[in-house]
Amino acid sequence: MRRTPDEGRRQRRGGPLWRYLAALVLLPLVGVVVLTVAAAQARAAEVAGAERAEVAVRALALLDAARSGVEQEMIPALTLSIVDDPVAAAALGLPTFFLRAQEQAALDEAARARTSTDAALERLTGNPVAAEAAAHAAEDVTKLRRAYEGRRLGIEELHLRFLAVSNDLMAAQAAAAVAATSEGVPVATMRAVSDVRTVAQLAQATARQMPLFLGSLLVDDQEQLIGSRTAWETAWMDYRDAQRRMDTLSGEPLREAWQEVRASDVVADLDGLFARGLAGEVRNLALPDLVVALLQSQERGTLLAGLVGTAVEEARSLVEADRARAEDRLQAVLVMGAGLLAGSVLGAVLLGRSVTRALRLLAAQATEISQGSLVEVEADGPREVRTVSAALGSAVAGLRRIQDQAQAVARGDLDDALLDEPLPGPLGEVVHASVRAIVTSVRQREELQFALAHRATHDPLTELPNRAQAVTLVTSALHRGRRSGEMTGLLYIDLDGFKAVNDAHGHAAGDEVLRAVAARLRAAVRPGDVVCRLGGDEFVVLVEPVHAEHDLLDLAERLIASVSRPVAVGTATATIGASIGVAVSRDGGTDADVLFAEADTAACRAKAHGRGRAEIFDETLRLQLAEQAELEAAIAHGLAGGEMHLVYQPVVDVASDRLTGYEALVRWDRPGVGAVPPDRFVPVAERSGLIRDIDRFVLGEATRQLAQWRAATPVAPGRPEPTVAVNVSGRHLADRRIVADVAEALEASGLPARLLVLEVTETVLVDDPAAYDHLTELRGMGVGIAIDDFGTGYTSIGQLRSMPVDTLKIDRSFVASAEPAHLELVALMIRAAHTFGLTVVAEGVEEQAQLARLRAEACDRAQGYLLSRPLPAVEAGALLRRDALAAPAG
Ligand code: C2E
Ligand code: CA
Ligand code: CA
Repeated sequence: MRRTPDEGRRQRRGGPLWRYLAALVLLPLVGVVVLTVAAAQARAAEVAGAERAEVAVRALALLDAARSGVEQEMIPALTLSIVDDPVAAAALGLPTFFLRAQEQAALDEAARARTSTDAALERLTGNPVAAEAAAHAAEDVTKLRRAYEGRRLGIEELHLRFLAVSNDLMAAQAAAAVAATSEGVPVATMRAVSDVRTVAQLAQATARQMPLFLGSLLVDDQEQLIGSRTAWETAWMDYRDAQRRMDTLSGEPLREAWQEVRASDVVADLDGLFARGLAGEVRNLALPDLVVALLQSQERGTLLAGLVGTAVEEARSLVEADRARAEDRLQAVLVMGAGLLAGSVLGAVLLGRSVTRALRLLAAQATEISQGSLVEVEADGPREVRTVSAALGSAVAGLRRIQDQAQAVARGDLDDALLDEPLPGPLGEVVHASVRAIVTSVRQREELQFALAHRATHDPLTELPNRAQAVTLVTSALHRGRRSGEMTGLLYIDLDGFKAVNDAHGHAAGDEVLRAVAARLRAAVRPGDVVCRLGGDEFVVLVEPVHAEHDLLDLAERLIASVSRPVAVGTATATIGASIGVAVSRDGGTDADVLFAEADTAACRAKAHGRGRAEIFDETLRLQLAEQAELEAAIAHGLAGGEMHLVYQPVVDVASDRLTGYEALVRWDRPGVGAVPPDRFVPVAERSGLIRDIDRFVLGEATRQLAQWRAATPVAPGRPEPTVAVNVSGRHLADRRIVADVAEALEASGLPARLLVLEVTETVLVDDPAAYDHLTELRGMGVGIAIDDFGTGYTSIGQLRSMPVDTLKIDRSFVASAEPAHLELVALMIRAAHTFGLTVVAEGVEEQAQLARLRAEACDRAQGYLLSRPLPAVEAGALLRRDALAAPAG
């Protein structure tokens, strides 16, 4: 296929669909990715914050454990200093054995506290929040231990350095708390961390009370006492503050635990002891009281450590929950983002695939349709695709209906109901209109062909099959008979008295009678038998199969009876009869022509035997027919062999007795038989078609002869030129070739047309319109026309007015008759002919009286034995010469 450049450009301009779809999908996809990443980043930051907070809380707890350890180590350390210092021991009023006993306990206690401190600090290495502070504290603690183990420090200084380490750790705790409560940490967590700090501060403040209290008991000089009391009071206030802050605890379980601790005996006893000490009421403490106080202080420390642990646990679990939540959220965001991404990619791919596939399918189907194959249109997909598919489908349906109609027309199936269905759309209208036009024109042509065929095979007047069709039908019936071995019958019907009806009532009435006869014949025969009209008043009935000959005779009698019933013609009624000849072929071995001739012959005999009867073609007839066939052959042979010649009977002018011309009459000298009269062989020749050859011979010979006489004997000036009359058979006259035959004869002889007269019988003029036309044409050429044997036929005198004739020849029977009626009739004929400008010739004048009568009635010419018998050519020529010589005298 070739594309125009314009088409090509249009094709290149559009990219494939998947590219647009990808662009359409990628844009939001990028958005989804960006949003997901942003959300994931936020969630990741949350997770990182939560993790940091967790680390910080862990640091907070460990720092607190370390601080608590340091503070627990402080009392045994101080105890060891006191054991070594007799002044201090004395100040406390402790006996030496007690101190010795305490030394070991202090050592044990210090080792236990040290382990817990070291473990806590150890665990802080690597903790980003508190590693530095832990390292610093570990260093300080190590130095401090070395110092008190070597007894190098005074009680006071020892105490201060312990406090300093404790303070450092407390500061680190504060920093860790800040780190734990950085931005983004939930309020609950923040509160929990703050609770840890609050509880830790209380624990620290509490831990410092006992050393300071004991210290205040040790002091003896005034200045030292004031300093020690100040530190002690400050610590007391810190403790009070820390206790007050405990009211702000947010954790409910923690608050309840604190309430319990606060209400415990140890806390109440110690608070009472320290309150009294502060008021200066305790100057000295008995040993048992001191031991109790120390134990109580230890127990309170444990309680508070538990409280801190609870707070830390609370904070840690919150922070862990935060982290888990943040991680969950991050995971959810990631899963959601990934899901969205995968979903939209999958959706885009599926949508793209389904649309592209559907469009590709549609395109393939559309291509096939454009190439003329009307495929089934099927495409699934989005609604638009289905809409296009449906539209294409309905277009195909329309095309298919167009195709169906075209196929019906091509098949020639014009009665298909499909062809009446309108087609959709303007194209459909056009196609449907052209289909209708084709159908109509084909139908018209078929009807015309049928009409032509019907006209060629049927008689227009009666609608019966005509002569040609009758021959065809009889031929096929004989074929069938030959195969089946059954008899075939043919009835030849010749109407009697039909011409009389025509004369009496006119042609229209004659036609009506013929139609009535046709209807009666058809009604009388069996179904399957065929009635045909051969022309004129002749019909045939074809009967097959025939069981017996007498069946045919019975049928013939029935037909005669039926036809003989009167026929209503206008207001009058006409009565006709029929003579029927029957012929039978026993085994189909007869020719159609022969069967027709046999039936015809039988009909002739029926007519000859008195009409209104049926005759069957029998042996006698067969013999006759055979004779006739023999005669035909002899005629043809004789004509070709020069056995025919002409004689010329003079036609005389009645008034002047002078010769006006001759009638040429044919003679046949049949070798071995002698002269055969024309009445014997002319009818036979007429039946066989040989008559045309005879007439042509006579025409040629007569014109040649007259031309020769004219050349030999010129006519005297003022005298009419002699004519020659030639008899033309009615059968020849109906043949179109008569005109050419006459023209040829005139041409060959050089005779002027006006000197030739054609004699025709009146029945020819009345019955045959073709003969009538040919005569008109011949007359136009200048040839004279005479009606022969006038009076024997059925022509009324009135009809003469419109006929193409110049001469009337009154038949011999009228001329010879002496009956008054006939005499009257002759006189009438002469007068009427003259009225119409015709020349009258009386035939068969044998007596003088006849001639006299004719002369009296002003008959123009006469012909007969009285005047002259027909003469051989030589004599006729001699007569013509004599007449010419006599002319100047006459
Ligand atoms: P037609 O045309 O009426 O010819 C006149 C016949 O009457 C001729 O008989 C003639 O010899 C005879 N005839 C003449 N005058 C008398 C008379 O006074 N008394 C009697 N009794 N008869 C007379 P023909 O020659 O035997 O012819 C008989 C018929 O044969 C003719 O009748 C004509 O119809 C036909 N015929 C003769 N020659 C030809 C011909 O060349 N061609 C054709 N087609 N028919 C011919
Ligand atoms: Ca004649
Ligand atoms: Ca005649």
